Amino acid sequence: MSILVMKFGGTSVADPERILNAAHKVKREVDAGWHVAVVVSAMSGETNRLVELVRGISPLYDAREYDAVVASGEQVTSGLMALTLQSLGVPARSWQGWQIAMKTDATHGAARIDSIDTEPMLAKFDEGLHAVCAGFQGISPEDRIATLGRGGSDTSAVALAAALKADRCDIYTDVDGVYTTDPRVVPEARKIEKIAFEEMLELASQGAKVLQTRSVELAMRYNVPLQVRSSFSDEPGTIVCDEDEIMESDIVTGVAFSRDEAKITLQDVDDSPGVAAAIFGPLADAAVNVDMIVQNISDENRTDMTFTVHLDQFDRALATIEAAKDQIGYKGLVADKDVAKVSVVGIGMRSHTGVAQRMFAALAEDNVNIQVITTSEIKVSVLIQRRYMELAVRSLHTAFGLEAA
Ligand code: ASP
Ligand code: MG
Repeated sequence: MSILVMKFGGTSVADPERILNAAHKVKREVDAGWHVAVVVSAMSGETNRLVELVRGISPLYDAREYDAVVASGEQVTSGLMALTLQSLGVPARSWQGWQIAMKTDATHGAARIDSIDTEPMLAKFDEGLHAVCAGFQGISPEDRIATLGRGGSDTSAVALAAALKADRCDIYTDVDGVYTTDPRVVPEARKIEKIAFEEMLELASQGAKVLQTRSVELAMRYNVPLQVRSSFSDEPGTIVCDEDEIMESDIVTGVAFSRDEAKITLQDVDDSPGVAAAIFGPLADAAVNVDMIVQNISDENRTDMTFTVHLDQFDRALATIEAAKDQIGYKGLVADKDVAKVSVVGIGMRSHTGVAQRMFAALAEDNVNIQVITTSEIKVSVLIQRRYMELAVRSLHTAFGLEAA
């Protein structure tokens, strides 16, 4: 059985006209012989509206009821899409998270998928019935609606594709693929034809917003080829696939950035076993996601420790560190909410030297001061003052020749 998963994001189902446009794309694939599982997001803006309703009533809301409310946007679009497909003569039925059954853990608001029961849907495919699934939602161990975190419909789609052993998962969105960087910052940015899972994972986690990071992780684990493409054109998009399927990788594939970062430095802490644990333990317990970490060289067993968090989590991080002041034993604290992170990513870095050097030279030429550096096998990231971010992205894009086809 040839199964295709087609996911439509919020802008692709924003109103009845766009749902019809998306339904025509589904019909085309059905006519070509595919069994299709469509996965839909809520209409664009709808989830934000629902989140605001919840917050308006209860700022420290009960996460189970938050999920009950915010999952409703996808229930609406799944039904509307099924109706629209039926009107085009495509037999289709909507499926909510509990009907699929997409079983998750109990982390309401950011649930992880444990299992998907594909038998019922496969049986319906056999009867010639196509599926329209509400993205973003699953069902918790207590049989309550659980959502997968903002942007989670991408993850719903990839998980479903993996479980159904689909041939491909097409992610329809409002851009026509993955670009070498955000074209709003660098108009010369180029659409990438094929990108490896690992590169996409780094780009997504470094701030490129095309796909939810978790969805790329899942696609890589289960080797589900993705295609990111536009709902508003018929152009081929970007294929995200195993690196073996890419003939020769560029040294650098893309430049990603994350504008809203914050940096906290703890001055004059003991350089002894357990100090890092005393700092990062409480942050982990408070669910603060720490990104970059640097420890300075110590002077008479005293040192400075610097870390970064997303600006959204700054207040929480600061409160946590201040509450743990006695256990940590730092003398001073310096906070800087005026930083951004810029990263260059590419699998070719594994076999080429000098990438970091080229990056630093390009930034030096534009007089951009680097505050913190981190690297992985296929990525170099720098933390810089926020106001230089666009400049840094542009000069790196040029330095690595990304505008040349
Ligand atoms: N509607 C949800 C959100 O806005 C899920 C998604 O669109 O992927 O986060
Ligand atoms: Mg989305």
